This record gives sequence, C-alpha cells and structure tokens, in this order.
Amino acid sequence: MPVTQTLEADVLRRQDPELAEILLGELDRQSTTLQLIAAENFTSPAVLAALGSPLANKYAEGYPGARHHGGCEIVDVAERVAIDRARSLFGADHANVQSHSGSSAVLAAYAALLRPGDTVLAMGLAFGGHLTHGSPANFSGRWFDFVGYGVEADTGLIDYEQVRALARTHRPKAVVCGSISYPRHIDYAAFREIADEVGAYLIADAAHPIGLVAGGAAPNPVPYADVVCATTHKVLRGPRGGMILCGAELAERVDRAVFPFTQGGAQMHTIAAKAVAFGEAATPAFRAYAHQVVAHARTLAAALEAEGLAITTGGTDTHLLTADPAPLGVDGRTARGRLAAAGMVLDTCALPHGDARGLRLGTAALTTQGMGDAEMERIAVLFAGVLRDDIDGRQAREEVRELTGRFPPYPG
Ligand SMILES: *Cc1c(COP(=O)(O)O)cnc(C)c1O
Repeated sequence: MPVTQTLEADVLRRQDPELAEILLGELDRQSTTLQLIAAENFTSPAVLAALGSPLANKYAEGYPGARHHGGCEIVDVAERVAIDRARSLFGADHANVQSHSGSSAVLAAYAALLRPGDTVLAMGLAFGGHLTHGSPANFSGRWFDFVGYGVEADTGLIDYEQVRALARTHRPKAVVCGSISYPRHIDYAAFREIADEVGAYLIADAAHPIGLVAGGAAPNPVPYADVVCATTHKVLRGPRGGMILCGAELAERVDRAVFPFTQGGAQMHTIAAKAVAFGEAATPAFRAYAHQVVAHARTLAAALEAEGLAITTGGTDTHLLTADPAPLGVDGRTARGRLAAAGMVLDTCALPHGDARGLRLGTAALTTQGMGDAEMERIAVLFAGVLRDDIDGRQAREEVRELTGRFPPYPG
C-alpha cells in the first residue's frame, strides 16, 4: 500500500535511515495500539499522497488569480477545487482553506471580527473550552477580555440561560460556541438568538464535529454562525489543517485576516490534500462512516458505564465521550498512564464537577480501521479491567496487539 511504500521508499531508507526508522516506528505504534484520542484519525493514502507531493515546493501567497508569486496557475486550480468542495459540502457561501491549523483559523476569525481588548464570551477552559477561547497562555487570553460560560455540574449540559445571562451582563462583541470535549450536539439556534439579543457576532469553533457535519451526523453551524472555524484532521479525516466558512458579506474580511494578517504563503500540498479529503467526505461511504462513528461512541459509552465509569451527560451524540474513572478507584492521570502501558492511547480532560481530571475518548480512528460494536464492547471490558487491576497490563497489551492486528489502519 502507498503508505508503507512511501515510508519504506528506498530513497529515504538509503539517504536517511535514522528518519526512515522513526517514520516506520510511528506507523507501527499507530498500527498496534488503540487510538482513542478523540481528535485523531487515520487519513487516507490518497490524502497522504497529496501531502507528500511536489505541491509542497510551491510558494503561493495570496489567493487564486491574485498571487504574489509566479507559476501559480496549477496550484490555483487545486485551491479553487478545495474551496468549491468545502462550500458545497457545508452549504457555505465562502470558504477559506488556507488556515494552517484549527488554532490559526480561530486567530483569523478573531482578527476578522474583533479588536484587541474586545469582550468575548466562550466556554470556560475548565469546562472544555479550547486554548484559543481565552487561555492566559494563549494569544486569545492576552489580547481579548474573555468571559467563560460553563456546563451544569449535575447534568454536564450547557446551561443556555447562564450563557444568555452572561451575554446580557458583559455585552460581548462575539460569542464563541464549540469545545474540545462537549459530547452533545450544540444548539446553534439558541446561541444565534443569544448573540442577536446583545448584538454580538457568533463564531462556531466546530473543530471537532465538522466531520460529523460533513457526514450528516451532527447539526450544521453554517446557517447560524457568522463565522465557522474548523480543523480538517479530526473526524473529517483530512490533512492536519484548518478552514473557515462564512457568508459572502464577511468573505473579504476573513480572507484578509488569514492572509496577509496572520499567515504568509499558503501550504499548497496541504490545500490539495484538503480537497482530496472534502471529495472523500462527500461520498455515501463517508456518510455511513460518520453515523457509525457516533453509534460506536454510544456503544463504548454504554459499555464503559456498565463497567462502572461515570459518563458525563450519561452518553454522547457525537464521536467523543468523557468519563470519570474515580468509581473504579483511580484518578484520570493514573488511568491515562496505565491505559497507555496497555496500548490504549487517550487524553485526560476537565470534568464538569470539581477539579479531578477525567478521560476523553473518541471512536473516529477505531471506526476508520473497520472496528465495530463488538470491538467497542471488548475494549470497554479491557479498559475497565486495566483500571480495576483485574486484567494484567501486559495481558491487555497482548490483546490490544491481537485486536489491532485484525484491523490494520493501512492494510499491507
Ligand atoms: C482541535 C481544536 C482546535 C485547534 O486545532 P489545532 O489544529 O490543534 O490548532 C481549536 N478549537 C477546538 C474546539 C478544537 O477542538
């Protein structure tokens, strides 16, 4: 298969065996452990081929038809295809596909709509807000005045009346909806109404669910938000990168906020790979995939709950779930370490109640590998067994190896 061919290519082996070894080692790690990190996926060999193409050589500052460099006639076509496919996939008037990452997309959205010092209402970091939603360690927290909303301690759900009350009190210039760990659908209509009530822009940071949106398995923020920021590498299964969707009236402001305000030359190999991923995401097979990802997350949540873990909101509508392992007598950090030793790779995350860290899991990568409900149930048993210490870590590691051996992410 192309991936191993690329990695084993004699060229890299001969020229730089040290790096060839590292790349193959990482392929082996990804193929023999369970990728439960909710933000990860296995992109296709076609996407990897575009990423490894000579488009990586091309300088292309500006936009198709208006570049600061010569020789852009072919990459212009690639970017136009990416834009058209994104617009049609998400029903957006305008798409900017140049953002280097999800965070750069959010930076550009703020640059398009806000001035330093403006007030922004976003989910608090302790409840699942992203770094770009006002962390003091991030540009967002330094340049804007963030007010955080939370989730209800008992249900784990967004309290829309609290969001409305905070908006009325603080009169933000923008309201941000989107999270790194919220397992339920977001009510974009409710956020739109709140933003309208106080004359704020609505920015949807749909980095996580955008792949489900593409597959019709989650509500589309495009009809509601002024600007939608997203990544292309999570459930959407494209290359690492970002994009921005908006209406025609903000198109020019958004484009100028990406280039020249926050970025230089576009990464044309990544843009071509985004186009390939958008093409894949428009197929019936991807639609089926997106629905399976959600079904598998529900199965995994129910199976972990049956094993005694406390599942935030009691389940999920999406590809991710968050769980408190405390009922099994172990804290989130210890749990992550023990699971990693057994070949189950995942993140800790904030939980709605208290300061204890929970666990965040997703099913996007497992589903791409072809795993199904039976595997989710088996994984839940292993997972809880390792945490309870009834299953020896080494034995679990062997079972994970056997399981992943049956579902290679890159067969051959
Ligand atoms: C993943 C994520 C981002 C950032 O994406 P990067 O590509 O890592 O910069 C931003 N916002 C949210 C809500 C995310 O989940």
